Amino acid sequence: MSTTDKLIELSERRSAHNYHPLPVVISQADGAWVTDVDGRRYLDCLAGYSSLNFGHGNEKILAAARAQLDRLTLTSRAFYHDQFADFCAGLADLTGKDMVLPMNTGAEAVETAIKVARKWGYQVKGVAPDQANIIVMEDNFHGRTTTIVSFSTDPVAHDHFGPYTPGFRIVKYGTAEAIRDAIDENTVAVLLEPIQGEAGVLIPPDGYLTQVRELCTENNVLFIADEIQSGLGRTGKTFAVEHEGVVPDMYIMGKALGGGVIPVSAVAANSDVLGVIKPGTHGSTFGGNPLACAVGRAVVDILGTGEFQERAARLGEVLHAGLLGLVGQGVVTVRTRGLWAGVDIDPSIATGREVCEALLKRGVLAKDTHGSTIRLAPPIVVAEEDLAFAVAQLADALKEL
Ligand code: PLP
Repeated sequence: MSTTDKLIELSERRSAHNYHPLPVVISQADGAWVTDVDGRRYLDCLAGYSSLNFGHGNEKILAAARAQLDRLTLTSRAFYHDQFADFCAGLADLTGKDMVLPMNTGAEAVETAIKVARKWGYQVKGVAPDQANIIVMEDNFHGRTTTIVSFSTDPVAHDHFGPYTPGFRIVKYGTAEAIRDAIDENTVAVLLEPIQGEAGVLIPPDGYLTQVRELCTENNVLFIADEIQSGLGRTGKTFAVEHEGVVPDMYIMGKALGGGVIPVSAVAANSDVLGVIKPGTHGSTFGGNPLACAVGRAVVDILGTGEFQERAARLGEVLHAGLLGLVGQGVVTVRTRGLWAGVDIDPSIATGREVCEALLKRGVLAKDTHGSTIRLAPPIVVAEEDLAFAVAQLADALKEL
């Protein structure tokens, strides 16, 4: 039995089957490439669901982490520590907001945003007790906690986890009218992904985010942008909402904020919104810990140069052009924004899973989502010729299937 087969067999026997991984066991990585336990190399076109925007083993991020590991890793928020202030101020500046609230995982940050919006609704907007509603989108993906899956429209994520948290109104994504019809005096927030990642990199029509902004302002409703997957350079901007010049009331960030090293998430908003959080109302033992803040500071510094945003935009055009060439040759549609692509495969040829398995054999790691769509999101450090390699492997895989 190969090392790969042995480790997969043990993993399947001794861990819950909450994922269906491709049959590869990775043991090393550098930049946009990973190596498995049997020494095979693969181009990483998933980048930890966009957690590795700045590449595997990014030297600046690793140096920050190493230095912090030797000094101080955890204090809890019962005390201040010397990395906290600069991380929070730097991240708040990056978002243009007054303040941030650091957490760990994406789902925790989404939960934080929901709690903040509800409390803001009761204490600032004046909604009657326990009457707040939040408008969310069909086909959303915001995480896996019980409250978040309560408003998931994906039966696999949602079913059999009730009783569900009330207070959410699900509307169609991409049409502002649907939101207008759902808003009432008890609406405290509209929560959406500026691009729906897990749904297949679905980009809403031009003008949608602007209209959502206007509706929220007119109705005194918070616009919450979940930028956990779309943010921090992936789409060619720091935040995907910037493609429409829109400023939400609250940003939710995660994934790449931890530089591919440690879970770091946060919400950012102005003090009239985040100010509703008082001591004891919300927290996390690990949220805002020294190691997370040191890594987060390095990420904020990297984003501050604009280099990765520019690179994602430029390489995104290369990827887009390459993928467009496959339309009609096994590919039905291609959607890209920066270095992030949703590729719909002709379902009569293969499922997304089958395409990803064929790509794996050809040295490319990608992940299917929703049947026949595959998503490509390589680390932004990827070389231009690597993108050509990925497109060529996809073309060959589709010919063979
Ligand atoms: N929100 C969005 C848009 C996501 O894509 C994800 C993860 O894929 C999450 C929230 C949840 O993040 P986490 O898995 O870190 O809880």
